[in-house]
Amino acid sequence: MSQISEEAIRDVVTEVLSRLQSTSGAPAAPAIHTRPGRHGVFDDADTAIAAARGGFEQLRAKGWAARTRIVEIVKQMCVDNAQRWGDIEYNETKIGRHAHKPAKLQGVKNVLGTEYLMPYGMSGDLGITMDEAAPWGVIAAITPLTHSIPTIAGNIVNMVAAGNAIVCNPHPGGAGCAALAIDEINEAIKAELGISNLICTIEKPSLDSFDALCKSPDVDLLCITGGPGVVDAAMKVGKRAVCAGPGNPPVVVDDCSALDFDRVARDIITGGGFDNNLLCIGEKQIFAVGPSYQLTLDALKRQGAVVLNSQQLEAIKKEVFSYKDGVGCRKAILNRKFVGANPHELAAVAGLNIDPKVEMLIAETGEDDVFVQEEQMMPLLPIVRANCFQDALRMAKKSEHGDKHSAMIHTMNVAKMTEMGRLMDTTIFVKNGPCTAGLGMGGEGFISYSIATTTGEGITTPRTFTRFRRCTLVNDLNIIA
Ligand code: NAD
Repeated sequence: MSQISEEAIRDVVTEVLSRLQSTSGAPAAPAIHTRPGRHGVFDDADTAIAAARGGFEQLRAKGWAARTRIVEIVKQMCVDNAQRWGDIEYNETKIGRHAHKPAKLQGVKNVLGTEYLMPYGMSGDLGITMDEAAPWGVIAAITPLTHSIPTIAGNIVNMVAAGNAIVCNPHPGGAGCAALAIDEINEAIKAELGISNLICTIEKPSLDSFDALCKSPDVDLLCITGGPGVVDAAMKVGKRAVCAGPGNPPVVVDDCSALDFDRVARDIITGGGFDNNLLCIGEKQIFAVGPSYQLTLDALKRQGAVVLNSQQLEAIKKEVFSYKDGVGCRKAILNRKFVGANPHELAAVAGLNIDPKVEMLIAETGEDDVFVQEEQMMPLLPIVRANCFQDALRMAKKSEHGDKHSAMIHTMNVAKMTEMGRLMDTTIFVKNGPCTAGLGMGGEGFISYSIATTTGEGITTPRTFTRFRRCTLVNDLNIIA
């Protein structure tokens, strides 16, 4: 008698169950299987898309309660597994600050779920109309290396709350931890709700799998979280894309005697130093007006930052940046080894031995310095002297490159806050706090790990991932008559 593998038996059983379900009127489970213990993890894009389509149909059949429950499951899993998943992600990606990884996962509990999808009702002499937020179907989520599991988990909360299934094409450098979390989340969803393959991922993502997702007629919407290359590529596809693109957020410190400069410095270190400056919203360059330049620099030192001299800065620059097509905006090539590196590792490049506990390096530079103009994602912030407030605004605007992402100001002058807010026209604008306050950490509001700057949807919510649908009932049901 020939040997039958455990996997073959599992496939036959699943197929029989699938047929039984379809004859009993329940939604048919898709006849697509991942490897045992790899729920939703596939070798290629087409299989993943087909599986996610099945997941979408199962979710649709289970309704609103299932969406709400899945949101609760994912949030709880992010809290419960914050340390373990954080460790696994750090060990794979090797970027950012290890100790900050759990906090990013715990933040998923503040992502908006089904509660945010309020229908809008109209009632009058002619009947009743409801404007509803309907799902798209299958969403392709392209996720970054910088926050692999948090972005995927945050996307799941938003997208499943809106009734969608997901296929992820994670960054290859974070694909292992993405698959692990997706496997565990799918397993939990299946155990409680019987839905399989609601979240799918490609085990070895590539430009080809990205291309297949973009071209597939069974992918209804793209959600891109990443840098300029992938955003440009997605915008050319011709399919609706929600693009959470790059940024280079400036922070302006006004010449204002009423400011508490130690607090300003602490805010800059808290925001810019978080996860070694990997946050797209993170403070990336400081413009300080007149006397506030020295006051900010002194306060940054008191708050534990280490100020580099010009030789040390140049030594680091030599290792960190290279140039292929000439010098200019977004022409420098980052040595990825130093993205999200610890301050003491960066300092070591310049022969400087500092305490690993240091959260931030500071360098005095001119406005055109590569550290000012590039989104370098390192805990090394340049500080630039501005002659006056207008000068600071001009330099801040230039350094943001029109990404319309994030900007910060420290001032007690409300008119200046308004002036900068209008000029920058960014998606997030924080006054007198760290950048993270703009995502509800130390400020009011909710979080998302995909801030749709390029396409303008802003901090994503479940509503971002819905289609507007109007349902009108004429005359017969007129409840105000
Ligand atoms: P990245 O652009 O290198 O990669 C992001 C994703 O796009 C990955 O999955 C990668 O595999 C894919 N990708 C990259 N180039 C591609 C191309 N030409 N075609 C198809 N796919 C491509 O970025 P990263 O280093 O992973 O993340 C950091 C970048 O993401 C920064 O620019 C940061 O500002 C941005 N980001 C933005 C947000 C936001 O909410 N706006 C959030 C996080 C990160």
